[in-house]
Amino acid sequence: MPGLQDVRAAAKRIQPYVMRTPLISSAQAADISGAASILMKLEMLQPTGSFKVRGAANRIFSLTEEEKKRGVITFSTGNHGRAVSYMAGKAGVRAVVCLSKRVPEYRAAAIRALGAETEIWGDSQDAAEERYFKLMEEHGYVPVVPFDDPYVIAGQGTIALEIFEQAPGTDVLLVPLSGGGLLAGMAIAARNINPNIRVIGISIENSPVMLKSLEAGHPVELEESDTLADSLLGGIGKHNRYTLPLVRDFVDDHVLVTEDDLKQAVYFAFVNHGLIIEGASAAALGAVLAGKADVAGKQVAMPVTGHNIGRTAVPE
Ligand SMILES: *Cc1c(COP(=O)(O)O)cnc(C)c1O
Repeated sequence: MPGLQDVRAAAKRIQPYVMRTPLISSAQAADISGAASILMKLEMLQPTGSFKVRGAANRIFSLTEEEKKRGVITFSTGNHGRAVSYMAGKAGVRAVVCLSKRVPEYRAAAIRALGAETEIWGDSQDAAEERYFKLMEEHGYVPVVPFDDPYVIAGQGTIALEIFEQAPGTDVLLVPLSGGGLLAGMAIAARNINPNIRVIGISIENSPVMLKSLEAGHPVELEESDTLADSLLGGIGKHNRYTLPLVRDFVDDHVLVTEDDLKQAVYFAFVNHGLIIEGASAAALGAVLAGKADVAGKQVAMPVTGHNIGRTAVPE
């Protein structure tokens, strides 16, 4: 299991490739919620538009020389796919991203533009995933998975280290939760630095896969429903090894947000702060604005995780 020393090592390793993002204060959100302050860490400003570059950089820049020669493979069309493509390019490592034929060509082109090769295969995400396994076996590519990997978890955890440096008095962390790499990494760092901090995971009502898995005591699969927070969709993996136990052991509390909470928060960030944020990014702010997280009198910090919203409207 990754620990604080791994998060510290990650911070050193990825420093040349990621941004130390600003932490801005929202007086408006503090007023509405009764918190002493609401601090937003603008991870959406990272190269490729999300924090996912942190985990991808930590994994890719930890590869052995032999693994670098083999190249890496993944199958995400979203923020992780972009981050892997970009960081593999920086490392001079060959990267393959498997996509189904249903993925619009401009998305595939965006991944290629960052340096990866795309393998277009089959009519579904499942078919693309099968192709990913096949190519991995055939060519010996190294998998770079989106969350259930100690290096990826430690990389995402570096956000919490920066928050403690930028705002040492922070006593609550609110973190969007899907596969749990972000929450697990931040919680490991936060707990070890300040045992009294409260760490709260924010899941979406339409797809609370980690919550249902915690309740069941093992990974469960849920039907996917449409959500504004599309970056939070997807399961936690049938063979989850890291994020489920880490979230179980290190996270204090969980909150569910609705589609309306997400919309309100996306709108709030635009109107009050001039920020364009994607739905997944709005989960923590949405919980605060809806009065769902207990933050009265507290100094609260949250990562604003990504800005890749509405790209389906961009012409090819
Ligand atoms: C991946 C992602 C998340 C959730 O991270 P997990 O490690 O899967 O829990 C949140 N917001 C954005 C924008 C993401 O891309």
